[in-house]
Amino acid sequence: MPSAPTTAAPGVSEAPGAAPAVAGTHAGTPRAADTHCPYCALQCGMRLSPADRARHAPDDPAPSALLPVTVAPRDFPTNRGGLCQKGWTSATVLRASDRITTPLLRGSDGALHPASWDAALDVVVAGISRVQAEHGRDAVAVFGGGGLTNEKAYALGKFARTVLRTANIDYNGRLCMVSAAAGNKKAFGIDRSTNPMSDMVGAEVVWISGANVAECAPITTSYVWQAREQGAKVIVVDPRITPIARTCDLYLPIKPGRDVALFNGILQLMIENDWLDHQFIEQHTVGFEQVAEHVRSWTPARTAEVTGIAERSIRQAAQWWGEASTSYLLHARGMEHHSHGVQNVLGSINIVLASGRIGKPNCAYGTLTGQANGQGGREHGQKCDQLPGARDISDPEHRAYIAKVWGISPDELPAAGVDAYEIFRKIDQGEIRGLLSICFNPKVSLPDNHFVTRCLEKLDFYVAIDFFLNETARHADIVLPGSLQEEDEGVVTQLEGRVIKINPAVKPPGDARQDWRIIQDLARALGRTHGLTFDSPRAIFEELRVASKGGVADYSGITWEKIEQNYGIFWPCPSEAPDGTPIDHPGTPRLFEPGSWNPIAKGAGPFYFPDGKARFNVSTYSPPAEDVDEAFPIILTTGRVVSQFLSGTQTRRIGPLVDQYPEPRLEMHPRLAEQLGIADGEWATAESRRGSCTLRAQVVSTIRPDTVFIPYHWAGAKSANQLTIAAQDPISKIPEYKVCAVRVMKAAGPPEYALELESQQ
Ligand code: SF4
Repeated sequence: MPSAPTTAAPGVSEAPGAAPAVAGTHAGTPRAADTHCPYCALQCGMRLSPADRARHAPDDPAPSALLPVTVAPRDFPTNRGGLCQKGWTSATVLRASDRITTPLLRGSDGALHPASWDAALDVVVAGISRVQAEHGRDAVAVFGGGGLTNEKAYALGKFARTVLRTANIDYNGRLCMVSAAAGNKKAFGIDRSTNPMSDMVGAEVVWISGANVAECAPITTSYVWQAREQGAKVIVVDPRITPIARTCDLYLPIKPGRDVALFNGILQLMIENDWLDHQFIEQHTVGFEQVAEHVRSWTPARTAEVTGIAERSIRQAAQWWGEASTSYLLHARGMEHHSHGVQNVLGSINIVLASGRIGKPNCAYGTLTGQANGQGGREHGQKCDQLPGARDISDPEHRAYIAKVWGISPDELPAAGVDAYEIFRKIDQGEIRGLLSICFNPKVSLPDNHFVTRCLEKLDFYVAIDFFLNETARHADIVLPGSLQEEDEGVVTQLEGRVIKINPAVKPPGDARQDWRIIQDLARALGRTHGLTFDSPRAIFEELRVASKGGVADYSGITWEKIEQNYGIFWPCPSEAPDGTPIDHPGTPRLFEPGSWNPIAKGAGPFYFPDGKARFNVSTYSPPAEDVDEAFPIILTTGRVVSQFLSGTQTRRIGPLVDQYPEPRLEMHPRLAEQLGIADGEWATAESRRGSCTLRAQVVSTIRPDTVFIPYHWAGAKSANQLTIAAQDPISKIPEYKVCAVRVMKAAGPPEYALELESQQ
């Protein structure tokens, strides 16, 4: 197993005398659990130690979950004893005073009131049955979350398709990983980063496009810095000089939404200068000629004009990339959150394939997954078009296999459903009338969220499973109290494709239940269990192993014990050799290595197509769905800040994180601020065709003068997604969070929320 770096990144603390990793749970202090951070997909190892009740609170009748839990980093290969501030403070939320600890039912007075589980389940059954009887099975939709373990995601997918028999299940990974997933499948036939992060160290060039590494997955910075210390040239492409860009060797300040133009221009320079691996292209790929023809018109001058990057910088980047013998290309939402996100991804893969630097040590392509289990969540059944094992729900053979595992006829399996945003459009049109959501807060996280709010109000019936009454759950008829990651066990698949084990430190408080139990309780109450009678997450995982067997995402050779003994196991990990002989497969840290076997190519080559060859794809540039014009002349782009996570349901409840960045700011360049007559700290309003948002201006020279930035973690009047556009990529259906057109003006005065706050102080 390659070792991970030790350099500390901003916001990252090394563990003073970090405890060594201990396989299994409950080692050391009472009920201490060796587990992983609940937030980003790097999934740093940590040890959670609940206070000893006898010592800490002998007379306190409160449930044990409300006792303090101490976080300590672990020496796991991904983080080697480091945690960022989100990890260090993660257990604080276990003691939040507004945790939901009992089911809540909406009463005739319009308010939510505590209720028993039996009463709540009766109402859920009545609601689902009524909607499905009157409007059909697909009239009830299900939303899952990328934070759910693989076992929960599997159970939820099975519940939707066998119990509800609705086609309409999707998850919040739709807002995150799907452009990368679609691009990976088109080019490689498999949807996974190719190498462990540790392969970055030793690469000659590290190319980071649209990935605010130091704020979104801070520990990843350590790998970049260690690579640089060992001689790597670091190229960062971003409209903002993010923290990682401050220490790179070449910064390319791209105009938002123009990534594919840059990659086409780079490939053209690689061709012109013969910086190509002809042998690799010939032996392991198809489609190079068409792509070469397509990029011929992407001269440096045209590329510079479209991207806004200086021609000399484009030439320098192409030379470093072209002449390297090892490299690591990493991208994230900055180039995926676009109405042509898949084209951007394919453009980046084209320059990797042309270099031939893939499937080898220090030769990697990867994408930074956002949520803990964004990767596994889509592999095992929450995505509207996939069945477990990353099987295709439209493929008759795949349907037949899963139907057999689930003990139903393939005809009983619903067809592919629609994506998360389309579910809202169908709610608006009255086609979908009922909704069940779990750990998804679309009222904050979906674009054009005034539309989302109107749709939530149109629902006949809405049940939310969550641990807090988040902004979306407040619209529910019934709220069922679920569990946090620290309160359950199971496995998640982190951003490298490494399957790791989550272990519980505490129990859910009060009457809150683990999510997999709630899913099964619902199936039982509906009188249609369909095998959802598991007695533990381990039992669910055992069925998941069978369901994934023979699929591209084959987990059949993974056991919980193997995971604990090996610091995780990389999928694919089959349980049988190609000839059907049972094997103890070690897992696949590095994809596409020479001689590797996969069930699609069957030995013809390393890539997951019948001929074993990777695909070059013509990647076409088109402008953003809503470009700037006279009325809305400024580009708005959105993203994260280091101290918050996604819709903020957890991190907006953690004091030190709130203190670090208490409210969203409207970030703009000094030149733009001067033009608009706005000074740093003054109230400014950004307005799009969909809504407006008044925030304090943050005047910084680290952003393009034609672009403003708002972080998206806040709700209501502070929500960036009041402004964003619901345009989607036609293939991946990811929304275009990273570009829309706005106008910005100095606000007449503080917004209402600020005045209210002032009056309370
Ligand atoms: Fe590690 Fe990400 Fe958690 Fe920070 S948020 S501790 S980088 S897993």
